[in-house]
Amino acid sequence: MVSKAIQNVRGFGDVLPAEGPAWQFVEATFRRELERYGYAGIRLPIVEKTELFSRTIGEVTDIVEKEMYTFTDRNGDSLTLRPEGTAGCVRAALQRGLLHNAQPRLWYSGPMFRHERPQKGRYRQFHQVGAEAFGVSGPDIDAELILLSGRILRALGISDLRLELNSLGSSADRGRYRAALIEHFEAHAEALDDDARRRLYSNPLRVLDSKNPAMAPVIAAAPVLSDHLDDESRAHFDSLCRMLDQAGQPYQVNPRLVRGLDYYGGTVFEWISADLGAQGTVLAGGRYDVLVEMIGGRPTPAIGFAAGLERLVSLVEAAGTAPPAPTPHAALVVGDPELQGDTLALAERLRDALPWLHLQMPLGGGSMKSQLRRADRSGAAVALIRGAEEAAADTLTVKYLRDDLDQITVAIGQLPEILSALQTQ
Ligand code: ATP
Ligand code: MG
Repeated sequence: MVSKAIQNVRGFGDVLPAEGPAWQFVEATFRRELERYGYAGIRLPIVEKTELFSRTIGEVTDIVEKEMYTFTDRNGDSLTLRPEGTAGCVRAALQRGLLHNAQPRLWYSGPMFRHERPQKGRYRQFHQVGAEAFGVSGPDIDAELILLSGRILRALGISDLRLELNSLGSSADRGRYRAALIEHFEAHAEALDDDARRRLYSNPLRVLDSKNPAMAPVIAAAPVLSDHLDDESRAHFDSLCRMLDQAGQPYQVNPRLVRGLDYYGGTVFEWISADLGAQGTVLAGGRYDVLVEMIGGRPTPAIGFAAGLERLVSLVEAAGTAPPAPTPHAALVVGDPELQGDTLALAERLRDALPWLHLQMPLGGGSMKSQLRRADRSGAAVALIRGAEEAAADTLTVKYLRDDLDQITVAIGQLPEILSALQTQ
């Protein structure tokens, strides 16, 4: 046992080999589909200046108020482990000139850090794939991004997901709505929890995002933003809905859907699983037309999403849709310790000749019986046995471990043909 003092930090998990196939399936599916839509990969640092996040996500949000891993480094700078990817992606796109006369589409994948209460589907280190599209203001990019996210989730074989959609309107819309919200919550002050009371004047929209069940009734009775949209916001949203209809993509308009970060405005959406309870949102996104300007750039329309990989992996595991890890085609077993060196060299030649070949060797010696047992446990289809007799005759004995076939002894030169028969299995 690892002594308690050096066990992993709560909420910072290990991904074990048994979970590998589901993780790889999820990551490969995102990558493949994002590339098909023209998104280019970008790799971003996990540490940024604290101010990047406090300025963009908003001072009065869960993330900035209580979830960030912020520390002072040895130079005295305040740094933060990224709690999300959008701010860093926008920082990089602007700082590196990717937004000059261009409409880049970027995607990234990696760990994020939030000091939340660890529970199923909620960790302190978790992983997201994010996609961000810059420079397009119309609802067509909103529709395409939503259809892309739907395609990815379908490809993962997860059912029972619903798409919720809302518009947060323009900042003028939200200004009018704020006033209506404050009025409503003031009239029900006794129903508010401490967070809500504290945020009522600084950030009343955040109150709608509360996860406190006791607040549900007062939130349900609150006025809705859709009643405060101006003509332009309404036309954008209606047009998006029509495009989704035309593409046959079902959705539910949820007038209470808001997002936990301040830079969102206009279209917001979430894909929610019925199977994950309160941690049901697996992919969430929206428009953030003000963000580039907030960090010093020219106004640039933008929209993006982030998907929570732990939640998706658990759904993929439940659905059993990930392809299994590949099993070795063959295990090469050495009958005589004297032959170890040139059998290793033979294995290298086989791997050179057959680039697709998964070939293992139960190294470390041991009797033929114990090596064959390890070969069997590896899942290999055949054991290739090289004993003194085979070595003298330049042959190998092929023992079929999964099929009811007699073992055969073949010349080394015949091996590629014999092994190729296993390639498609
Ligand atoms: P939630 O409402 O569940 O707290 P959020 O609105 O804080 O989510 P976003 O910032 O939109 O989450 O992040 C996008 C996705 O990342 C979420 O929908 C979720 O799937 C995942 N995610 C967010 N926080 C965590 C976490 N602490 N642990 C695991 N996954 C997370
Ligand atoms: Mg959260």
